[in-house]
Amino acid sequence: VKPTSVHLILSDHPRLACALGSGRAHLCREVEFPRARLRPLLEEARALGGVHRVVFAGAEPFLRRDLLEVGVQAAYALGFMVEIVTGALWAATPATARERLTPFAGLVSRLAVRRRGPGAPLADPRADLAIGAAREMEIPVEEIVSDAADAGRGPPGAGEGWERFDRCPSDELHRPSRLQVDPTGQVRACRGIVIGDAFGDGLLRVCRSYDPHVHPLAAPLVLGGPAELARRFGLRPDGPFSDACHLCHMLRDKLLELDPEGVAAGISH
Ligand code: SF4
Repeated sequence: VKPTSVHLILSDHPRLACALGSGRAHLCREVEFPRARLRPLLEEARALGGVHRVVFAGAEPFLRRDLLEVGVQAAYALGFMVEIVTGALWAATPATARERLTPFAGLVSRLAVRRRGPGAPLADPRADLAIGAAREMEIPVEEIVSDAADAGRGPPGAGEGWERFDRCPSDELHRPSRLQVDPTGQVRACRGIVIGDAFGDGLLRVCRSYDPHVHPLAAPLVLGGPAELARRFGLRPDGPFSDACHLCHMLRDKLLELDPEGVAAGISH
């Protein structure tokens, strides 16, 4: 595994996670990235050789501005391109938006502001304020719209049966280039698929030991997409599903619940 970017999930917050619609309050964890782990993890990422980009993400990285500031400063000092992905809920007024962004001016090479997807019933004034403040402060800024893989579900309406989704649309499980590290140290190759423990084993060992062809979840997904994952564990999910990632998300939920062969340990949510 030769990642080119590492994405740090600074916090998993139950209120946010559940407000996003998981409906699984009992599974939501309130955890924050340990401050003492930030710098060593970034140094490890640097030691991997190919990583040039560090992205601070999470339910909302600005929920822990102190961690975000420490992490961004450390990543910048280590020579990474630094990015932040945010929902901009903190940008209540122009003054607040400027104040929140001030510590990052000159350090961040991309601020990605998530907007509500197409068809959302409301305008998104906070995203506008965050984008305006970033432009004023010459922080490179970009708007993004969460895709189905991020949200874990596709658009409502049309859909198809599970057997059709016989291909994973991303190459990340096969050849991970973008590793996510969550606040507990779990390393994910794609949303929900854990490939190792950065705090226990270290990023280097995780990268050296991951083999998509023997990983209990990645192997079927690489071989035949979520349909193969369903077959592998004898699941017959009720459809319709709007895309492969929607089906994959539902299957991971089911596997978390049933935990066949102990695979739940390899699933994050
Ligand atoms: S099918 Fe699953 S593993 Fe593949 S990109 Fe979608 S969410 Fe990720």
